[in-house]
Amino acid sequence: MTNFIIITGGVLSGLGKGVSTAAIGKILSSRGISVDVCKIDPYLNVDPGLMNPFQHGEVWVTKDGYEADLDFGHYERFLDVELGRDHNITTGKVYLSVLEGERKGKYLGQTVQIIPHVTDEIKRQIYEIARINNPDVLLVEIGGTTGDIESMPFLEAMRQMRMEMGKENVLFVHVTLVPTLKAVGEQKTKPTQHSVKELRGIGIQPDILICRTEEELLEATKAKLALFCDVSKLDVISNHDVDTIYEVPLVMEKQGLGDNILSKLNLRERKHDLKDWEKLVYKIKNPKTNVSIAVVGKYTGLRDSYISITEALRHAGTANDARVDILWVESLDLEEDPSKVWELEKADGILVPGGFGKRGAEGKILAIKYARENNIPYLGICFGFQLAVVEFARNVAGLKGANSVELDEDTPHPVIDLLPEQKRVKQMGGTMRLGEIPIIIEPDTLAYEIYKKQKIGERHRHRYEVNPDYIEELEKHGLCFSAKSDRGRRMEILEIPDHFHFLATQFHPEFKSRPIRPAPVFKAFVEAALRRKNDVRS
Ligand code: GLN
Repeated sequence: MTNFIIITGGVLSGLGKGVSTAAIGKILSSRGISVDVCKIDPYLNVDPGLMNPFQHGEVWVTKDGYEADLDFGHYERFLDVELGRDHNITTGKVYLSVLEGERKGKYLGQTVQIIPHVTDEIKRQIYEIARINNPDVLLVEIGGTTGDIESMPFLEAMRQMRMEMGKENVLFVHVTLVPTLKAVGEQKTKPTQHSVKELRGIGIQPDILICRTEEELLEATKAKLALFCDVSKLDVISNHDVDTIYEVPLVMEKQGLGDNILSKLNLRERKHDLKDWEKLVYKIKNPKTNVSIAVVGKYTGLRDSYISITEALRHAGTANDARVDILWVESLDLEEDPSKVWELEKADGILVPGGFGKRGAEGKILAIKYARENNIPYLGICFGFQLAVVEFARNVAGLKGANSVELDEDTPHPVIDLLPEQKRVKQMGGTMRLGEIPIIIEPDTLAYEIYKKQKIGERHRHRYEVNPDYIEELEKHGLCFSAKSDRGRRMEILEIPDHFHFLATQFHPEFKSRPIRPAPVFKAFVEAALRRKNDVRS
């Protein structure tokens, strides 16, 4: 039978609830317990696919082509799993299902209400995940902050779940903030007390508190929180600032969280094995060298917009015994003042990540040109792949005014065009070319050297592609399309054989990067940047 751990958040958002959830999962799975994890997002959007990365952070793409919240990235990276679309429950999805049911006559004669119809549907979707995957423990992270109107039906459903399944099968973990006031230097417990009070008002008494703090929680603070929030001191976990998020499971395990959860859920005690994870964290914290990578993007103001790119670079750095220092370059600034391209001089490698729309695109093209002309290792991802084609077409193949149709509908050379199936698409939500698609790599290419195999699968999220009419012309001038999909019709990887290291992918390799298994193209890119750095210095 599946046990449930419900993770709620209090005081304010952005406390790293996703990381805490993933860390709990890691602690449990290190004991051989099978763990599954799902995320509840109380917003009305059906999925986050159409949300602005500035507001919501990056959109994660699952293997089965669902556009998900970035917390999915934490789950997949910590637990080394691949989650599916059914692992995300949103208010939009729940209401859609209830309303469709109502129209079909499912509730004939009844008044359809939040309690019980909406709460029943929420529970049904959660129980369904447990039924299909049958894990020992299902972690359910509730997005948002306790007290938000949007979260109410979900919290009520969770309260009902505890009644239905029993206290020993449903555990509540509350993630809160314990700030330290600089002037007094004291760890303040009041915000947490209030947040717990709020939860209790809904009928939920948390079993465990995870407290985000700058410095480790003092014993006295733990004791005070225990007293006021009606838990034992052992149930108050300090989640203080650490050098790397991958250290969080170790910090929590050290405080006895694993055994504590097992005993609360009446699960047999098992010893944990976090040795490999400890080695990984040691390696992350003790790099032998460093390398500087410029990331040229439009959303550099909100780091969460590029979280998977950052993580994939870090994984690749660790594999190369190097710390990756990211130099954030705002593409709009480059576009407005092209002389700023010299900022890139400090970088050992240049990366242009995925993106959409015209704003800042010319700045990205400038950065790509700079990388190509100066033999600086380049990694382009999705939009960074498409813009590399545009740059090459304009400046090497001599196709004046070449562009992507996304940026200029009337370009004389539409080297990047809408995918054929996209021409029929009318609805915006969930209609891109999404998810994992099989790809075939050509032998004797850099791509083959990197992947060391012919068949790979990578995740996608795009509407545009290399226009097949221009492939011959581009290849004639020295661009090599080294991997393709859809029986050779879709271009997936490009490279410039004459260049030090110039490679771009139509897909998003960052979604398959794991701390212990970096994405091959990221690993090779960081390796090349290190080689380039040593060349320049010697
Ligand atoms: N805007 C481009 C497209 O839709 C690239 C998308 C992306 O970078 N994810 O094809």
